[in-house]
Amino acid sequence: MKNLVIFGAPGSGKGTQSDLLVEKYGFDHISTGDVLRAQIKAGTDLGKTAKQYIDQGQLIPDALMVDILAATYDALEKKVGVIFDGFPRTIPQAEALKEMLSKRGTGVAAMLELEVPDDMLMERLINRGKTSGRADDNAETIQKRLAVYHNQTAPLRDWYEAEGIRHAVPGFGSIEDINAVLRAVIDTL
Ligand code: AMP
Repeated sequence: MKNLVIFGAPGSGKGTQSDLLVEKYGFDHISTGDVLRAQIKAGTDLGKTAKQYIDQGQLIPDALMVDILAATYDALEKKVGVIFDGFPRTIPQAEALKEMLSKRGTGVAAMLELEVPDDMLMERLINRGKTSGRADDNAETIQKRLAVYHNQTAPLRDWYEAEGIRHAVPGFGSIEDINAVLRAVIDTL
């Protein structure tokens, strides 16, 4: 099992790159944002709670998020490994992920970080908002999400560096070129 964390700011291309890696290697893919949006669509209580945070560009509380992640993970068959996309977003989430996987006899093999400058992220997300239908892809909420990323999520770069498994790659250029760099890292694991 090679579990990977794909990491980066909103709009850094985590979802796009995950899809290509799933196609190439057969990983399972957990996007916590997708899980929450599916709950909102289904009109569940969890979805109603999540929507209040998502629409404000804020993070869902760690305790709730960790439970959702564990339930999603345990429901998978798990073939070659799992790509975690959008999780962890805080240091307590990273600690919880490590503990959860360790209890299940596995761990995170690599954190793959897509590095993209803020002005490029803003432009990509504004463009995505024209077609994504996502309520949080508007200028005001994007600003909030980028601030949340810098304050609460970016400290995980040092956390994973200290774990000795952080691999940062430039997240701009062609989608295929970025993917080739990611594949080269994965092939060394
Ligand atoms: P994403 O699709 O990854 O950009 O996530 C969209 C929104 O879902 C985020 O802005 C958060 O409000 C929420 N969310 C997704 N993943 C997490 C997480 N790991 N922790 C807290 N909130 C999350």
